[in-house]
Amino acid sequence: MATRKAPVAEVLSRLRKAYPRADCTLDFTSPLELMVATILSAQCTDERVNQVTPDLFARYRAAADYARADLRRLQRDIRSTGFFRNKARSIRGACRTIVEEHGGEVPADMDALVALPGIGRKTANVILGNTGRAPGGVVVDTHVGRVARRLGWTRHTDAVKAEKDLSRLIPENAWVRVGHELILHGRRVCAARKPACSACPLSDLCPSAVPA
Ligand code: SF4
Repeated sequence: MATRKAPVAEVLSRLRKAYPRADCTLDFTSPLELMVATILSAQCTDERVNQVTPDLFARYRAAADYARADLRRLQRDIRSTGFFRNKARSIRGACRTIVEEHGGEVPADMDALVALPGIGRKTANVILGNTGRAPGGVVVDTHVGRVARRLGWTRHTDAVKAEKDLSRLIPENAWVRVGHELILHGRRVCAARKPACSACPLSDLCPSAVPA
């Protein structure tokens, strides 16, 4: 684990240059669609989720449609994203609460979002940050957590603790963008097993860089 910290401002500037179009890679047109897509993306690629959601979103147009869905039917509709039983329960449970307590609209604040069944801080931050609302912090998924630890920005493997560290270090107006950039960097360069340090634009700053 890194003991030095890579300089935040310079890393942010280089990430921005390296990934100028970094953005959410899930397809959605509303907070509800993004919530469902984010639940489906657990342990699944965004590409696969994007193959499933056009038919799903055409069938279930409002939170009430998911809330009254037949669980088996919903499971069938999302089966190819994996872990479909849990995901169907989370989607239906969250939508029931949205209908009963929020008038059918996905809530716009962190406390109300994490109170929904099956919604944690990561999903809540994705929803808030990509629908023009204020997120509670940086989205920390497996890629963001790994890269951040290698950069010395956190030592925590717990996502909520890592989110706190990152949100302290990184200016609030960069939280959403840097989440997208670190995900791309983790996927394309700073891979879990074999980071491509010799091709990494951060290698001279990174305390974990492996010499070529
Ligand atoms: S690829 Fe290597 S140099 Fe780049 S961030 Fe990861 S560990 Fe650091």
